[in-house]
Amino acid sequence: MSGARVVGQGLVVRPPSPRTAHLPPLPASVDLVVVGAGIVGLAHAIEAHARGHSVLVVERDARPGGASARRSGHVAVTTQDAATLSCALASRERWLKLGREAGFWVKDAGAVVVARAADELAVLDDLVAARDGDARLLDAAEATERARLTGDDVVGGALLPLDLRVEVGDALGATAAWLDGLPRADVAWSTTAWAFEAGSGRTLVRTSRGEVVARRVLVAVGPELDRFYPAETALAGLRHDVRQVLRVAAPSGALGGAATDAAAPVVLDGTTLLRDAAYAHSPALADVRERLRTVDPDLVDADVHLSFTRHAGPAGATLLLGDARRPRDEAADGSRLERDPARSEAADAVLLRAAAGLLGGPVRVHARWSVHDVTAPRPRRGPFAGTPFLVADPAPGVTTVTVADGLGTTTALGLAVKVVDGLF
Ligand SMILES: Cc1cc2nc3c(=O)[nH]c(=O)nc-3n(C[C@H](O)[C@H](O)[C@H](O)COP(=O)(O)OP(=O)(O)OC[C@H]3O[C@@H](n4cnc5c(N)ncnc54)[C@H](O)[C@@H]3O)c2cc1C
Repeated sequence: MSGARVVGQGLVVRPPSPRTAHLPPLPASVDLVVVGAGIVGLAHAIEAHARGHSVLVVERDARPGGASARRSGHVAVTTQDAATLSCALASRERWLKLGREAGFWVKDAGAVVVARAADELAVLDDLVAARDGDARLLDAAEATERARLTGDDVVGGALLPLDLRVEVGDALGATAAWLDGLPRADVAWSTTAWAFEAGSGRTLVRTSRGEVVARRVLVAVGPELDRFYPAETALAGLRHDVRQVLRVAAPSGALGGAATDAAAPVVLDGTTLLRDAAYAHSPALADVRERLRTVDPDLVDADVHLSFTRHAGPAGATLLLGDARRPRDEAADGSRLERDPARSEAADAVLLRAAAGLLGGPVRVHARWSVHDVTAPRPRRGPFAGTPFLVADPAPGVTTVTVADGLGTTTALGLAVKVVDGLF
Protein backbone atom coordinates (compact mmCIF):
# COMPACT_ATOMS: atom_id res chain seq x y z
CA MET A 1 0.00 0.00 0.00
CA SER A 2 2.98 2.36 0.26
CA GLY A 3 2.55 5.37 -1.99
CA ALA A 4 -1.24 5.00 -2.07
CA ARG A 5 -3.17 8.25 -1.76
CA VAL A 6 -6.78 8.96 -0.97
CA VAL A 7 -8.61 11.20 -3.40
CA GLY A 8 -12.20 12.54 -3.50
CA GLN A 9 -14.97 10.41 -1.95
CA GLY A 10 -12.50 8.12 -0.24
CA LEU A 11 -11.23 6.62 -3.51
CA VAL A 12 -7.81 5.03 -3.00
CA VAL A 13 -5.38 5.40 -5.91
CA ARG A 14 -2.33 3.18 -5.83
CA PRO A 15 0.87 3.99 -7.73
CA PRO A 16 1.37 1.86 -10.85
CA SER A 17 3.11 -1.43 -10.18
CA PRO A 18 6.56 -1.75 -11.81
CA ARG A 19 5.15 -4.54 -13.99
CA THR A 20 2.66 -2.19 -15.64
CA ALA A 21 4.35 1.21 -15.18
CA HIS A 22 5.47 1.23 -18.83
CA LEU A 23 1.89 0.90 -20.12
CA PRO A 24 0.11 4.00 -21.43
CA PRO A 25 -2.38 5.57 -19.02
CA LEU A 26 -6.03 4.65 -19.34
CA PRO A 27 -8.36 7.20 -20.95
CA ALA A 28 -10.44 9.10 -18.40
CA SER A 29 -13.73 8.35 -20.10
CA VAL A 30 -15.05 6.35 -23.07
CA ASP A 31 -18.37 5.29 -24.53
CA LEU A 32 -17.78 1.58 -23.91
CA VAL A 33 -15.47 -0.31 -21.57
CA VAL A 34 -15.18 -3.97 -22.54
CA VAL A 35 -13.84 -6.32 -19.87
CA GLY A 36 -11.98 -9.30 -21.37
CA ALA A 37 -9.95 -9.53 -24.59
CA GLY A 38 -11.16 -13.00 -25.56
CA ILE A 39 -13.02 -13.41 -28.81
CA VAL A 40 -16.32 -12.32 -27.25
CA GLY A 41 -14.95 -9.09 -25.77
CA LEU A 42 -12.95 -8.10 -28.85
CA ALA A 43 -15.90 -8.86 -31.15
CA HIS A 44 -18.07 -6.40 -29.22
CA ALA A 45 -15.36 -3.76 -29.02
CA ILE A 46 -14.84 -3.90 -32.79
CA GLU A 47 -18.55 -3.69 -33.50
CA ALA A 48 -19.13 -0.74 -31.15
CA HIS A 49 -16.09 1.08 -32.53
CA ALA A 50 -17.27 0.52 -36.11
CA ARG A 51 -20.46 2.37 -35.14
CA GLY A 52 -18.50 5.41 -33.99
CA HIS A 53 -18.23 4.75 -30.25
CA SER A 54 -14.97 5.15 -28.37
CA VAL A 55 -13.89 1.88 -26.75
CA LEU A 56 -11.47 0.66 -24.11
CA VAL A 57 -10.81 -3.07 -23.71
CA VAL A 58 -9.30 -4.05 -20.35
CA GLU A 59 -7.65 -7.45 -20.15
CA ARG A 60 -6.15 -8.95 -17.02
CA ASP A 61 -3.44 -10.89 -18.87
CA ALA A 62 -0.42 -9.41 -20.62
CA ARG A 63 -1.45 -11.12 -23.87
CA PRO A 64 -4.38 -13.22 -25.14
CA GLY A 65 -4.63 -16.08 -22.68
CA GLY A 66 -8.26 -17.00 -22.01
CA ALA A 67 -10.21 -19.92 -23.39
CA SER A 68 -10.26 -18.39 -26.87
CA ALA A 69 -6.48 -18.28 -27.14
CA ARG A 70 -5.74 -21.73 -25.79
CA ARG A 71 -6.80 -23.83 -28.72
CA SER A 72 -6.87 -23.89 -32.49
CA GLY A 73 -10.07 -22.37 -33.77
CA HIS A 74 -12.66 -24.01 -35.92
CA VAL A 75 -15.34 -21.66 -37.18
CA ALA A 76 -17.92 -24.42 -37.45
CA VAL A 77 -20.52 -22.74 -39.61
CA THR A 78 -22.21 -25.75 -41.17
CA THR A 79 -23.08 -27.69 -38.04
CA GLN A 80 -25.05 -24.90 -36.35
CA ASP A 81 -28.76 -25.15 -35.75
CA ALA A 82 -31.37 -22.48 -36.45
CA ALA A 83 -30.55 -20.70 -33.18
CA THR A 84 -26.93 -19.98 -34.10
CA LEU A 85 -26.62 -20.31 -37.87
CA SER A 86 -27.20 -16.64 -38.70
CA CYS A 87 -24.54 -15.54 -36.17
CA ALA A 88 -22.14 -18.17 -37.51
CA LEU A 89 -22.62 -17.06 -41.11
CA ALA A 90 -22.15 -13.40 -40.15
CA SER A 91 -19.06 -14.35 -38.11
CA ARG A 92 -17.58 -16.21 -41.05
CA GLU A 93 -17.62 -13.06 -43.21
CA ARG A 94 -16.27 -10.96 -40.36
CA TRP A 95 -13.42 -13.39 -39.61
CA LEU A 96 -12.28 -13.23 -43.24
CA LYS A 97 -12.53 -9.43 -43.33
CA LEU A 98 -10.77 -9.05 -39.98
CA GLY A 99 -7.99 -11.36 -41.11
CA ARG A 100 -7.32 -9.02 -44.05
CA GLU A 101 -7.55 -5.83 -41.97
CA ALA A 102 -5.69 -6.96 -38.86
CA GLY A 103 -3.27 -9.17 -40.80
CA PHE A 104 -3.65 -12.64 -39.31
CA TRP A 105 -4.00 -16.09 -40.82
CA VAL A 106 -7.54 -17.32 -41.34
CA LYS A 107 -8.26 -19.94 -43.95
CA ASP A 108 -11.42 -21.19 -45.63
CA ALA A 109 -10.00 -24.69 -45.33
CA GLY A 110 -13.38 -26.30 -44.69
CA ALA A 111 -13.95 -29.36 -42.55
CA VAL A 112 -14.31 -33.06 -43.26
CA VAL A 113 -16.45 -35.26 -41.06
CA VAL A 114 -15.49 -38.91 -41.50
CA ALA A 115 -18.02 -41.68 -40.96
CA ARG A 116 -16.82 -45.10 -39.86
CA ALA A 117 -20.24 -46.74 -39.54
CA ALA A 118 -23.37 -46.79 -41.67
CA ASP A 119 -25.44 -44.94 -39.04
CA GLU A 120 -22.92 -42.08 -39.00
CA LEU A 121 -23.16 -41.83 -42.77
CA ALA A 122 -26.96 -41.72 -42.51
CA VAL A 123 -26.71 -38.76 -40.11
CA LEU A 124 -24.34 -36.96 -42.48
CA ASP A 125 -26.73 -37.67 -45.33
CA ASP A 126 -29.48 -35.87 -43.39
CA LEU A 127 -27.17 -32.91 -42.74
CA VAL A 128 -26.29 -32.61 -46.42
CA ALA A 129 -30.01 -32.70 -47.35
CA ALA A 130 -30.79 -29.99 -44.78
CA ARG A 131 -27.88 -27.72 -45.74
CA ASP A 132 -29.00 -27.37 -49.34
CA GLY A 133 -25.66 -27.17 -51.15
CA ASP A 134 -23.54 -25.97 -48.22
CA ALA A 135 -22.35 -29.51 -47.48
CA ARG A 136 -21.53 -32.46 -49.73
CA LEU A 137 -21.54 -36.21 -49.10
CA LEU A 138 -18.23 -37.98 -49.77
CA ASP A 139 -17.61 -41.61 -50.67
CA ALA A 140 -15.10 -43.62 -48.65
CA ALA A 141 -12.15 -42.93 -50.94
CA GLU A 142 -12.71 -39.17 -51.13
CA ALA A 143 -13.39 -38.84 -47.39
CA THR A 144 -10.17 -40.73 -46.60
CA GLU A 145 -8.19 -38.65 -49.03
CA ARG A 146 -9.59 -35.28 -47.99
CA ALA A 147 -9.08 -36.10 -44.31
CA ARG A 148 -5.64 -37.43 -45.28
CA LEU A 149 -6.06 -40.59 -43.25
CA THR A 150 -4.45 -43.91 -44.03
CA GLY A 151 -6.83 -46.40 -42.41
CA ASP A 152 -9.33 -48.50 -44.34
CA ASP A 153 -12.31 -48.19 -42.00
CA VAL A 154 -13.79 -44.95 -43.36
CA VAL A 155 -17.15 -45.65 -45.04
CA GLY A 156 -17.79 -42.10 -46.24
CA GLY A 157 -18.04 -38.58 -44.96
CA ALA A 158 -19.20 -35.03 -45.51
CA LEU A 159 -17.34 -31.99 -46.77
CA LEU A 160 -18.26 -28.73 -45.01
CA PRO A 161 -16.64 -26.12 -47.29
CA LEU A 162 -17.91 -23.04 -45.44
CA ASP A 163 -15.98 -23.81 -42.24
CA LEU A 164 -12.86 -21.83 -41.42
CA ARG A 165 -9.62 -22.47 -39.58
CA VAL A 166 -7.97 -19.75 -37.53
CA GLU A 167 -5.12 -19.71 -35.01
CA VAL A 168 -7.16 -17.92 -32.39
CA GLY A 169 -4.29 -16.87 -30.09
CA ASP A 170 -2.41 -15.20 -32.97
CA ALA A 171 -5.63 -13.75 -34.35
CA LEU A 172 -6.61 -12.17 -31.03
CA GLY A 173 -3.15 -10.66 -30.58
CA ALA A 174 -3.21 -9.18 -34.10
CA THR A 175 -6.81 -7.98 -33.71
CA ALA A 176 -6.11 -6.29 -30.40
CA ALA A 177 -3.02 -4.55 -31.83
CA TRP A 178 -5.01 -3.42 -34.89
CA LEU A 179 -7.89 -2.12 -32.75
CA ASP A 180 -5.50 -0.35 -30.39
CA GLY A 181 -3.99 1.45 -33.39
CA LEU A 182 -7.32 2.95 -34.44
CA PRO A 183 -8.42 6.40 -33.24
CA ARG A 184 -10.70 6.33 -30.16
CA ALA A 185 -9.84 2.68 -29.39
CA ASP A 186 -7.52 1.34 -26.69
CA VAL A 187 -6.63 -2.13 -25.48
CA ALA A 188 -5.15 -2.15 -21.99
CA TRP A 189 -3.30 -5.39 -21.19
CA SER A 190 -2.36 -6.37 -17.62
CA THR A 191 -5.39 -4.45 -16.40
CA THR A 192 -7.90 -6.21 -14.17
CA ALA A 193 -11.41 -4.82 -13.80
CA TRP A 194 -12.43 -4.90 -10.16
CA ALA A 195 -15.84 -3.30 -9.84
CA PHE A 196 -18.48 -1.19 -11.55
CA GLU A 197 -20.26 1.66 -9.80
CA ALA A 198 -23.37 3.16 -11.36
CA GLY A 199 -23.62 6.95 -11.46
CA SER A 200 -26.05 9.22 -13.25
CA GLY A 201 -26.01 7.85 -16.80
CA ARG A 202 -22.39 6.78 -16.40
CA THR A 203 -20.55 3.88 -14.77
CA LEU A 204 -17.26 4.16 -12.92
CA VAL A 205 -15.05 1.17 -13.77
CA ARG A 206 -12.44 0.47 -11.12
CA THR A 207 -9.40 -1.39 -12.42
CA SER A 208 -5.97 -2.38 -11.16
CA ARG A 209 -4.54 0.55 -13.15
CA GLY A 210 -7.01 3.30 -12.32
CA GLU A 211 -10.61 4.33 -12.92
CA VAL A 212 -12.45 4.99 -16.14
CA VAL A 213 -15.89 6.53 -16.63
CA ALA A 214 -18.00 4.76 -19.26
CA ARG A 215 -21.41 5.26 -20.80
CA ARG A 216 -21.72 1.48 -21.00
CA VAL A 217 -19.76 -1.51 -19.73
CA LEU A 218 -19.72 -4.91 -21.43
CA VAL A 219 -18.37 -7.79 -19.39
CA ALA A 220 -17.07 -10.73 -21.48
CA VAL A 221 -15.00 -12.76 -19.05
CA GLY A 222 -16.13 -16.23 -20.13
CA PRO A 223 -16.20 -18.71 -17.26
CA GLU A 224 -15.29 -16.05 -14.70
CA LEU A 225 -18.59 -14.22 -14.77
CA ASP A 226 -19.42 -15.56 -11.33
CA ARG A 227 -16.61 -13.48 -9.85
CA PHE A 228 -18.62 -10.35 -10.68
CA TYR A 229 -22.20 -11.60 -10.53
CA PRO A 230 -22.41 -14.86 -8.58
CA ALA A 231 -26.16 -14.77 -7.98
CA GLU A 232 -27.05 -14.02 -11.62
CA THR A 233 -24.56 -16.63 -12.82
CA ALA A 234 -26.09 -19.28 -10.58
CA LEU A 235 -29.59 -18.28 -11.67
CA ALA A 236 -28.64 -18.71 -15.34
CA GLY A 237 -27.40 -22.22 -14.49
CA LEU A 238 -23.95 -21.45 -15.88
CA ARG A 239 -21.44 -24.22 -15.19
CA HIS A 240 -17.76 -24.69 -15.85
CA ASP A 241 -16.69 -27.47 -18.12
CA VAL A 242 -13.03 -28.43 -18.09
CA ARG A 243 -12.03 -29.76 -21.50
CA GLN A 244 -8.76 -31.57 -22.13
CA VAL A 245 -6.75 -30.99 -25.29
CA LEU A 246 -3.58 -32.67 -26.59
CA ARG A 247 -0.83 -31.80 -29.02
CA VAL A 248 0.47 -35.04 -30.50
CA ALA A 249 3.11 -35.97 -33.05
CA ALA A 250 1.65 -36.69 -36.45
CA PRO A 251 1.99 -40.48 -36.73
CA SER A 252 4.93 -41.39 -38.93
CA GLY A 253 3.92 -42.92 -42.23
CA ALA A 254 0.35 -41.82 -41.74
CA LEU A 255 -0.91 -38.53 -43.17
CA GLY A 256 2.09 -38.21 -45.49
CA GLY A 257 3.58 -34.81 -46.31
CA ALA A 258 0.15 -33.33 -45.80
CA ALA A 259 0.73 -33.54 -42.07
CA THR A 260 2.30 -30.10 -42.16
CA ASP A 261 -0.32 -28.55 -44.40
CA ALA A 262 -1.77 -25.67 -42.38
CA ALA A 263 -4.45 -25.17 -45.01
CA ALA A 264 -5.74 -28.73 -44.60
CA PRO A 265 -9.33 -29.03 -43.41
CA VAL A 266 -10.38 -29.58 -39.83
CA VAL A 267 -11.04 -33.32 -39.46
CA LEU A 268 -13.85 -34.57 -37.22
CA ASP A 269 -15.11 -38.06 -36.53
CA GLY A 270 -18.49 -39.56 -35.64
CA THR A 271 -18.28 -38.55 -31.96
CA THR A 272 -18.90 -34.97 -33.01
CA LEU A 273 -22.34 -35.96 -34.31
CA LEU A 274 -23.49 -36.37 -30.72
CA ARG A 275 -22.58 -32.81 -29.81
CA ASP A 276 -23.01 -30.51 -32.78
CA ALA A 277 -26.51 -29.07 -32.90
CA ALA A 278 -27.23 -29.46 -36.60
CA TYR A 279 -27.39 -33.25 -36.31
CA ALA A 280 -29.98 -33.29 -33.55
CA HIS A 281 -32.95 -33.76 -35.87
CA SER A 282 -31.53 -36.73 -37.76
CA PRO A 283 -33.54 -39.91 -37.02
CA ALA A 284 -30.31 -41.92 -37.38
CA LEU A 285 -28.62 -40.09 -34.48
CA ALA A 286 -30.21 -42.38 -31.89
CA ASP A 287 -28.54 -45.36 -33.62
CA VAL A 288 -25.14 -43.67 -33.44
CA ARG A 289 -25.60 -42.90 -29.74
CA GLU A 290 -26.84 -46.38 -28.95
CA ARG A 291 -23.99 -48.08 -30.81
CA LEU A 292 -21.28 -45.89 -29.26
CA ARG A 293 -22.81 -46.37 -25.81
CA THR A 294 -22.74 -50.14 -26.32
CA VAL A 295 -19.29 -50.53 -27.87
CA ASP A 296 -17.47 -47.74 -26.01
CA PRO A 297 -19.36 -46.28 -23.04
CA ASP A 298 -16.22 -44.51 -21.76
CA LEU A 299 -16.11 -42.49 -24.96
CA VAL A 300 -19.65 -41.24 -24.42
CA ASP A 301 -19.12 -40.61 -20.71
CA ALA A 302 -16.00 -38.53 -21.39
CA ASP A 303 -18.04 -36.57 -23.95
CA VAL A 304 -15.23 -37.01 -26.47
CA HIS A 305 -15.51 -34.70 -29.45
CA LEU A 306 -12.72 -36.00 -31.66
CA SER A 307 -11.30 -33.52 -34.11
CA PHE A 308 -7.85 -32.41 -35.15
CA THR A 309 -6.01 -29.74 -37.07
CA ARG A 310 -2.53 -30.07 -38.54
CA HIS A 311 0.35 -27.79 -37.58
CA ALA A 312 3.99 -27.35 -38.45
CA GLY A 313 6.34 -26.09 -35.76
CA PRO A 314 9.77 -26.41 -34.19
CA ALA A 315 8.75 -29.80 -32.85
CA GLY A 316 7.89 -31.02 -36.36
CA ALA A 317 4.47 -31.91 -37.66
CA THR A 318 1.89 -32.10 -34.92
CA LEU A 319 -1.83 -32.49 -34.58
CA LEU A 320 -3.90 -30.48 -32.15
CA LEU A 321 -6.40 -32.98 -30.85
CA GLY A 322 -9.56 -32.21 -29.01
CA ASP A 323 -11.23 -32.87 -26.73
CA ALA A 324 -12.56 -34.80 -23.76
CA ARG A 325 -14.36 -33.50 -20.70
CA ARG A 326 -12.86 -33.91 -17.29
CA PRO A 327 -15.46 -35.73 -15.19
CA ARG A 328 -17.77 -33.20 -13.60
CA ASP A 329 -17.19 -34.46 -10.07
CA GLU A 330 -13.50 -33.61 -10.48
CA ALA A 331 -14.14 -30.25 -12.12
CA ALA A 332 -13.49 -27.03 -10.27
CA ASP A 333 -16.47 -25.08 -9.07
CA GLY A 334 -16.58 -21.30 -9.38
CA SER A 335 -14.67 -20.71 -6.19
CA ARG A 336 -11.77 -22.87 -7.33
CA LEU A 337 -11.33 -21.73 -10.91
CA GLU A 338 -7.71 -22.33 -11.82
CA ARG A 339 -6.04 -21.43 -15.09
CA ASP A 340 -4.46 -24.87 -15.50
CA PRO A 341 -6.67 -27.23 -13.57
CA ALA A 342 -5.63 -30.78 -12.79
CA ARG A 343 -6.31 -33.25 -15.58
CA SER A 344 -8.12 -36.51 -15.55
CA GLU A 345 -5.82 -39.35 -16.66
CA ALA A 346 -8.87 -41.39 -17.52
CA ALA A 347 -10.25 -38.74 -19.88
CA ASP A 348 -6.83 -38.42 -21.56
CA ALA A 349 -6.65 -42.18 -22.01
CA VAL A 350 -10.06 -42.28 -23.68
CA LEU A 351 -9.15 -39.39 -25.96
CA LEU A 352 -5.84 -41.02 -26.92
CA ARG A 353 -7.52 -44.34 -27.61
CA ALA A 354 -10.10 -42.64 -29.85
CA ALA A 355 -7.33 -40.76 -31.68
CA ALA A 356 -5.33 -43.94 -32.23
CA GLY A 357 -8.43 -45.52 -33.73
CA LEU A 358 -8.91 -42.67 -36.17
CA LEU A 359 -5.24 -42.22 -37.07
CA GLY A 360 -4.47 -45.90 -37.41
CA GLY A 361 -1.97 -46.30 -34.57
CA PRO A 362 -0.81 -44.99 -31.20
CA VAL A 363 0.11 -41.32 -30.96
CA ARG A 364 2.94 -39.67 -29.04
CA VAL A 365 1.91 -36.76 -26.82
CA HIS A 366 3.89 -33.48 -27.02
CA ALA A 367 1.75 -31.41 -24.68
CA ARG A 368 -1.43 -31.59 -22.66
CA TRP A 369 -3.54 -28.75 -21.36
CA SER A 370 -7.02 -27.98 -20.15
CA VAL A 371 -9.39 -25.19 -21.03
CA HIS A 372 -12.41 -23.95 -19.12
CA ASP A 373 -15.58 -23.60 -21.08
CA VAL A 374 -19.13 -22.92 -19.97
CA THR A 375 -22.40 -24.73 -20.39
CA ALA A 376 -25.83 -23.47 -19.46
CA PRO A 377 -29.46 -24.24 -20.19
CA ARG A 378 -30.63 -22.17 -23.14
CA PRO A 379 -32.62 -19.08 -22.06
CA ARG A 380 -36.40 -19.44 -22.35
CA ARG A 381 -37.25 -15.78 -22.79
CA GLY A 382 -35.93 -12.61 -24.36
CA PRO A 383 -34.21 -11.83 -27.64
CA PHE A 384 -31.73 -14.70 -27.15
CA ALA A 385 -34.28 -17.37 -26.21
CA GLY A 386 -33.25 -20.83 -27.38
CA THR A 387 -29.64 -19.80 -28.05
CA PRO A 388 -26.38 -20.49 -26.18
CA PHE A 389 -25.95 -16.72 -25.80
CA LEU A 390 -26.32 -15.56 -22.21
CA VAL A 391 -26.81 -11.82 -22.43
CA ALA A 392 -27.94 -9.96 -19.30
CA ASP A 393 -28.05 -6.50 -17.75
CA PRO A 394 -27.27 -7.25 -14.10
CA ALA A 395 -26.72 -3.60 -13.13
CA PRO A 396 -27.48 -0.20 -14.64
CA GLY A 397 -25.13 0.44 -17.55
CA VAL A 398 -23.60 -3.06 -17.41
CA THR A 399 -24.25 -5.86 -19.94
CA THR A 400 -22.73 -9.31 -19.62
CA VAL A 401 -22.21 -11.60 -22.62
CA THR A 402 -21.24 -15.25 -22.28
CA VAL A 403 -21.28 -17.81 -25.09
CA ALA A 404 -21.95 -21.35 -23.84
CA ASP A 405 -21.48 -24.77 -25.44
CA GLY A 406 -18.09 -24.23 -27.11
CA LEU A 407 -19.30 -21.84 -29.79
CA GLY A 408 -17.54 -18.54 -29.11
CA THR A 409 -15.09 -18.66 -32.01
CA THR A 410 -17.86 -19.62 -34.39
CA THR A 411 -20.47 -17.07 -33.36
CA ALA A 412 -19.09 -14.09 -31.40
CA LEU A 413 -18.33 -11.78 -34.31
CA GLY A 414 -21.92 -12.20 -35.56
CA LEU A 415 -23.49 -12.09 -32.11
CA ALA A 416 -21.83 -8.75 -31.39
CA VAL A 417 -23.92 -7.08 -34.10
CA LYS A 418 -27.12 -8.03 -32.27
CA VAL A 419 -25.84 -7.18 -28.79
CA VAL A 420 -24.42 -3.77 -29.75
CA ASP A 421 -27.79 -2.93 -31.36
CA GLY A 422 -29.20 -2.89 -27.83
CA LEU A 423 -26.34 -1.08 -26.05
CA PHE A 424 -26.63 2.59 -27.00
C1 LIG B 1 -11.36 -27.42 -25.83
C2 LIG B 1 -12.20 -26.34 -26.42
C3 LIG B 1 -12.39 -26.29 -27.78
C4 LIG B 1 -13.18 -25.30 -28.36
N1 LIG B 1 -13.30 -25.28 -29.71
C5 LIG B 1 -14.06 -24.34 -30.28
C6 LIG B 1 -14.21 -24.32 -31.69
O1 LIG B 1 -13.62 -25.13 -32.42
N2 LIG B 1 -15.03 -23.39 -32.22
C7 LIG B 1 -15.70 -22.49 -31.44
O2 LIG B 1 -16.47 -21.71 -31.95
N3 LIG B 1 -15.51 -22.45 -30.11
C8 LIG B 1 -14.73 -23.38 -29.51
N4 LIG B 1 -14.59 -23.39 -28.17
C9 LIG B 1 -15.27 -22.37 -27.37
C10 LIG B 1 -14.53 -21.06 -27.38
O3 LIG B 1 -13.17 -21.27 -27.09
C11 LIG B 1 -15.21 -20.16 -26.32
O4 LIG B 1 -16.59 -20.07 -26.59
C12 LIG B 1 -14.62 -18.76 -26.38
O5 LIG B 1 -13.22 -18.83 -26.28
C13 LIG B 1 -15.16 -17.91 -25.27
O6 LIG B 1 -14.58 -16.65 -25.42
P1 LIG B 1 -14.67 -15.55 -24.30
O7 LIG B 1 -14.12 -14.30 -24.90
O8 LIG B 1 -16.04 -15.53 -23.73
O9 LIG B 1 -13.77 -16.10 -23.12
P2 LIG B 1 -12.18 -16.06 -22.93
O10 LIG B 1 -11.48 -16.35 -24.19
O11 LIG B 1 -11.88 -16.93 -21.75
O12 LIG B 1 -11.88 -14.54 -22.59
C14 LIG B 1 -12.20 -13.98 -21.37
C15 LIG B 1 -11.09 -13.01 -21.03
O13 LIG B 1 -11.48 -12.24 -19.90
C16 LIG B 1 -10.30 -11.98 -19.15
N5 LIG B 1 -10.71 -11.61 -17.80
C17 LIG B 1 -11.33 -12.37 -16.87
N6 LIG B 1 -11.58 -11.64 -15.75
C18 LIG B 1 -11.12 -10.38 -16.01
C19 LIG B 1 -11.11 -9.17 -15.25
N7 LIG B 1 -11.62 -9.11 -14.02
N8 LIG B 1 -10.54 -8.07 -15.82
C20 LIG B 1 -10.02 -8.12 -17.06
N9 LIG B 1 -10.01 -9.24 -17.83
C21 LIG B 1 -10.56 -10.35 -17.31
C22 LIG B 1 -9.55 -13.31 -19.20
O14 LIG B 1 -8.19 -13.13 -18.89
C23 LIG B 1 -9.78 -13.70 -20.66
O15 LIG B 1 -8.76 -13.25 -21.51
C24 LIG B 1 -13.81 -24.35 -27.56
C25 LIG B 1 -13.63 -24.38 -26.18
C26 LIG B 1 -12.84 -25.37 -25.61
C27 LIG B 1 -12.67 -25.38 -24.13
